[in-house]
Amino acid sequence: MRKTVLAGNWKMYKTQAEALEFLKGFVSHLEDTPDERDVILCVPYTALGSLSKNLHGGRVRLGAQNVHWEDCGAFTGEISAPMLTELGVDYVVVGHSERREYFGETDETVNRRLKAAQAGGLTPILCVGETKAQRDAGETEAHIFSQLEQDLVDVDQSKLIIAYEPIWAIGTGDTCDAAEANRVIGLIRSKLSNPDVPIQYGGSVKPTNVDEIMAQPEIDGALVGGASLEPESFARIVNYKA
Ligand code: PEP
Repeated sequence: MRKTVLAGNWKMYKTQAEALEFLKGFVSHLEDTPDERDVILCVPYTALGSLSKNLHGGRVRLGAQNVHWEDCGAFTGEISAPMLTELGVDYVVVGHSERREYFGETDETVNRRLKAAQAGGLTPILCVGETKAQRDAGETEAHIFSQLEQDLVDVDQSKLIIAYEPIWAIGTGDTCDAAEANRVIGLIRSKLSNPDVPIQYGGSVKPTNVDEIMAQPEIDGALVGGASLEPESFARIVNYKA
């Protein structure tokens, strides 16, 4: 039985005070959210501690946006799994296209981060997806299969979430057609050894398109950037109409 997982990725937005303000508004909308939907906020490191203290054991879980493969060491600017779990973090985004594009993340480092996250007790959300040029050249499947093959070496697929995020749809308002996202996610699933891995769609998910996206049989959730920054907007997404 595959889980339904709705996750917000705040990227580098919100101070600690802004994060707490968001939480106040957001939780008030979750009373009727079906229990079987997992709701995660992947926030900047600086907001993790105070959000964690204010979740009140509620149904919102916390995620970080990256994790290093060592527990500690001379890695300036990095953060480790034990540091995150101590703060009450349960999830971590790994291999987001912005990390791959702007910070030199490779499939090898993504693989190391995934394994460290799992060893440290975190559930990673692995992001894969093609560029516009790769899609136009008919290389979508080959690119994603290559990412999966390299990223998932020795990764435990019983503690994993995957997000299919076509790069051309991230932050552009240009959502991937729901049926096409469903098709690609089906192909991703065909490459996994565990058919129960939840696979999310990410890329300009909004209150206005979430119902259609979540109606697709292969799509188990959403990874949401811009539309997760406003409490009402993200609440409408997690309360999508099934
Ligand atoms: C993301 O940051 O992973 C993302 C999908 O962003 P957006 O929803 O803004 O396209």
